[in-house]
Amino acid sequence: MKNTSNVLNEITSDIENQKKYAKRVRKIIAEKIDRKKRPLYVFIQTFGCQQNEADSERLLGSALSLGYEKADFIENADLVIFNTCAVREHAELKAFSKTGQLKHLKEKNPDLLIGLWGCMVNQEHRIDEIKHNYPYVNFVAGTNMLHRLPEILCDVLENNRRRYYVDDSDYPVVEGIPVKRESDIKAWISIMYGCNNYCTYCVVPYVRGRERSRNADVIVDEAKSLIESGYKEITLLGQNVNSYGSDKNEVSFAKLLERIAALDGDFIIRFMTSHPKDVSDELIDVIAKYDKIERHFHLPIQSGSDEILRKMNRKYTTDAYLKVVEKLKKAIPDIVFTTDIIVAFPGATDEDFNQTLDICEKVGYDSIYSFVFSPRKGTPAEKMENNITEAQKNERMAKLLAEHRERIVKINKSYENTVQKVLCDTRRNESGFYFGKTSTFKLVKFTYEGNNNIYGKFVNVLITSSGDAMLYGKMI
Ligand code: SF4
Repeated sequence: MKNTSNVLNEITSDIENQKKYAKRVRKIIAEKIDRKKRPLYVFIQTFGCQQNEADSERLLGSALSLGYEKADFIENADLVIFNTCAVREHAELKAFSKTGQLKHLKEKNPDLLIGLWGCMVNQEHRIDEIKHNYPYVNFVAGTNMLHRLPEILCDVLENNRRRYYVDDSDYPVVEGIPVKRESDIKAWISIMYGCNNYCTYCVVPYVRGRERSRNADVIVDEAKSLIESGYKEITLLGQNVNSYGSDKNEVSFAKLLERIAALDGDFIIRFMTSHPKDVSDELIDVIAKYDKIERHFHLPIQSGSDEILRKMNRKYTTDAYLKVVEKLKKAIPDIVFTTDIIVAFPGATDEDFNQTLDICEKVGYDSIYSFVFSPRKGTPAEKMENNITEAQKNERMAKLLAEHRERIVKINKSYENTVQKVLCDTRRNESGFYFGKTSTFKLVKFTYEGNNNIYGKFVNVLITSSGDAMLYGKMI
């Protein structure tokens, strides 16, 4: 185990090195711009979760600081980076199919640089596939290398060779990477990376490494400057935000959340993803104390069967899960829950599935993000026998979604004739509608007759009708 001062020295010299690489890359980019008599463009496409979205904003910030400009279309790009996801087979196949489509762009523009980044490429078997099937990909880099884009581009540009960087996924979080945010009112803030839970179906601990929390002061300063520059929604991100700080025994997630909620300004704080075993009373008290903290709690259950939860290594029982839900509902009566559910986990019987339906009924989720089990290479669940037929998988998924739809129609109906505070996050569309979300993470489509610019403002909307996907109303 490296001692802290060695690690800090390593990071400091790494950051210094990246500055030197950046200088060399800027020179090369400037020469290319001169020669081509036009800007050089970068195009970044993100696959997967919000944390990948946040990472892509750092990749874009870094590329722009090296002299690239943001491309609107992939066809105009001189540098294409796909930030990939490995959470399910589907996400990986999608990234490969998109990479396949780049072949003709490369033939048209041999100078085009193509990079694959992120979770999918932090797996040896996928790197082998890229080496053999996508020889025109210039570089591959893992999740924990955001700060090393200058070095990678320098190497590829100066030496005109393909590079495969598999990272030391436990490398500490490096701060100070330029960031170019997608939105000017809503911001992602990753507070930690990695996960120590090793759920048997999940590839995250293998591709994002162990939990590493960012420094609390740095996070609070980042939130403060965003709020002062007009941001209205801050979403704190982590694979398991509730265990923030436990790797450093410093500030708990509840304390961090309170420090941000105590900042001046009219804004909303959201966070994801929570693990049921780490929801503390301290956290529940902080959420109850501050209206700025969303009245929505994303709490993945994955299965309603204790036997399946044991096989998933989720480290809680349905009783313990329901106790957490009860505690939250008692302390924050208007709180709503969303969840993740894996359908057809190996060995899940009809009875196990019925227990999942029961718990959905008990909690009354506002949204269910449900997926059919996708075996991930190298995870324990990959080796588990799975005799569930395609027909059973489809039938269970259809039943889960149908029951959820029935419930959500009733839940959304209960919002009618109420006034909701909504963050307007769009401008008026061609049909005259605006969109935004409530503190309970409900999507609202609404009208506003006036001419004020309400984009990025909290507005009051009278809910006049509802459906299964959103609420409808008019601003008052
Ligand atoms: S808590 Fe489990 S499912 Fe979530 S990222 Fe960690 S290992 Fe994966």
